[in-house]
Amino acid sequence: MPEVDIIVTGGAVATMDAGFETFDPGAVAVLNGSIVAVGSADQIAATYSAGDIVDCTGCAVIPGLINAHTHAPMTLLRGLADDLRLDVWLMGYVMPVEQEFVRPDFCWLGTQLACAEMIRSGTTCFADMYYYEEAVADAAAEAGVRAICGETVLKFPSPDAQSYDEGLGYARDFIQRWKGHPLIMPAVAPHAPYTTTADLLQACAQLALEFDVPLHIHIAETAQEVEDHRAEYGMPMVPWVQEQGVLEAKVTAAHCVHLDEREMRALLQHGVGVAHNPSSNLKLASGFAPVARMLELGLSVGVGTDGPASNNDLDMWEEARLAALLSKGVSSNPTALPARRALAMATIDGARALHVDEFIGSLEPGKRADLIVVDRQRVHTMPKFARNADALYAQLVYATKGGDVRDAMCQGRWLMRERRLLTLDEPALMAEAARIARKIDAFLIQREESVLSKLLAVGEVAQKKTFEVQVKILLEDASSVEDLLGRPEIEIVKPSLRRQYDTYFLFDDPYHSRIRYREDEVLDEEMEVQDVLSRLTLISEVKEREYAKSVLLSRSRFDAPAVRSQRFYREYFKPANEIEVYKERRRYRVRYGGTDFAINLDRLMKPELPGVFLEIKSRTWSRQDAERKAELIGQLLDLLQVPERDSLKQEYVELAMEVERPVETGPGS
Ligand SMILES: [Zn+2]
Repeated sequence: MPEVDIIVTGGAVATMDAGFETFDPGAVAVLNGSIVAVGSADQIAATYSAGDIVDCTGCAVIPGLINAHTHAPMTLLRGLADDLRLDVWLMGYVMPVEQEFVRPDFCWLGTQLACAEMIRSGTTCFADMYYYEEAVADAAAEAGVRAICGETVLKFPSPDAQSYDEGLGYARDFIQRWKGHPLIMPAVAPHAPYTTTADLLQACAQLALEFDVPLHIHIAETAQEVEDHRAEYGMPMVPWVQEQGVLEAKVTAAHCVHLDEREMRALLQHGVGVAHNPSSNLKLASGFAPVARMLELGLSVGVGTDGPASNNDLDMWEEARLAALLSKGVSSNPTALPARRALAMATIDGARALHVDEFIGSLEPGKRADLIVVDRQRVHTMPKFARNADALYAQLVYATKGGDVRDAMCQGRWLMRERRLLTLDEPALMAEAARIARKIDAFLIQREESVLSKLLAVGEVAQKKTFEVQVKILLEDASSVEDLLGRPEIEIVKPSLRRQYDTYFLFDDPYHSRIRYREDEVLDEEMEVQDVLSRLTLISEVKEREYAKSVLLSRSRFDAPAVRSQRFYREYFKPANEIEVYKERRRYRVRYGGTDFAINLDRLMKPELPGVFLEIKSRTWSRQDAERKAELIGQLLDLLQVPERDSLKQEYVELAMEVERPVETGPGS
């Protein structure tokens, strides 16, 4: 009788092969890391002998689950920032922290922690996309877990590359070193169309083709990203990506939430696999991927957890269940995406989506021995029905939890037996993760203390200081300025007309500065909008000396184009208060006596000038009038509805002074 290494026997075996064959009680024979035979328990017992025979009575034996999309090292960022919009979460928190902390040892530890969690919940293969992917590969290989490791390439500096050329170089080296490894399949991962360029995507596609490795990319995760893409390139995302040659490679596209019918067909035509991430899409409110339609068309759709910072765990049972439930809910059709299909998405369909179904995804002779044993005798899964196999799939998808996985095997090696991890030191990993979380906490606490460092953390500004002198005068009418501009000794260099919409973010802390978000509509003489410019300005260290009817200012400012929406900045900075100021500005750059000046003639549209303010500003106040002035300021604050009078008083008064003087002159803004 031929001898094999291991026989797993006595459980209900769901092979997930093309015919969805099941054996109950069934058995699987394993030799040299591969499956030799699958059949009924009796049949296998009659054919093979083994030194290691594992009794699986009362259990299900199924292929190891395949997580089609994750960012494994992000276990270390789990719970860092939640309940935020994707852009605020990613650009405001995750990326700055990554820039500060992500190093090879961080990725190694995060991946080991992820592997412990994955093994425990029955995942034996994951498709990863992160930085220092070599450390991810190393940590997964050491844990004995199979991984497709996609090295991220971005158009901007990342934790492991200053430029995209460097990123591509890293990816190439990594692929060369790891190609052919028994557990690790290296890959290239251009992050997403909105974080890459046409050139970069072309280079990544060529790299993938050159080494015949997979290409992993995020596609159409949010409606905003898709809208922006259409505005920028004048076409949907998939045809554009196709134009860059990306679809020629073995592609797995994560998310695919906002695709139209033609895009789905293009993916199908090119054999692109889709990684559906229901938890992440729900948590970040990205929308509902048209999974039922994709399956109808014949696309290979796997399920993924996405990164554990946006999920927040790596439990594939939950993902498979959500995939089924969401599809039903969205289509108002309870027969949509049945349990068997959901389990397939977590196994064989996932393998197809990752282009590795030749080796894994089902229990079939010749495939790698990646399998798990799931306890079916738990209180939340009892009883069980045997009338047809669908009852088994329903039990697995709708009732089984990650913690029900009893044993896990990858490539014929046991990674967990009787819920005990065999390749990882769980307590040490947990202690180390806690230590890193404390460091990240300290970093964020320090950053939150200063608006400037928070601003710098999102990479908005170079610390460019502008010093300026401003003189502001209140005018009853504009004719005096117009007369002045008509004089021969004044040369008008560049007149312009604009509408300015300013939002001041105020902070409830005397040390904090204020941030101005300005949208400038540049108008032509017909008052048609020619251009819209957005700028973000940190106004701080105001050193101000006030004279009778004018103000001399010397201030340092941090100023940059506002690349994100006003909404982003509001949610990111969380100001204590906001003030909106709208005005129409006629701006003249003039040369007088060899010096450049700017004369701004402003007409205030919002807020309306309160009479009490005009009174404050139109008088020269003597020391004896201090009481009256304080009284007027008090009235002004009431009018402006200042909530925190004491702490914000100074801010408002200063702002009011700036705002309510409708004419500024002098270089600068
Ligand atoms: Zn992702």
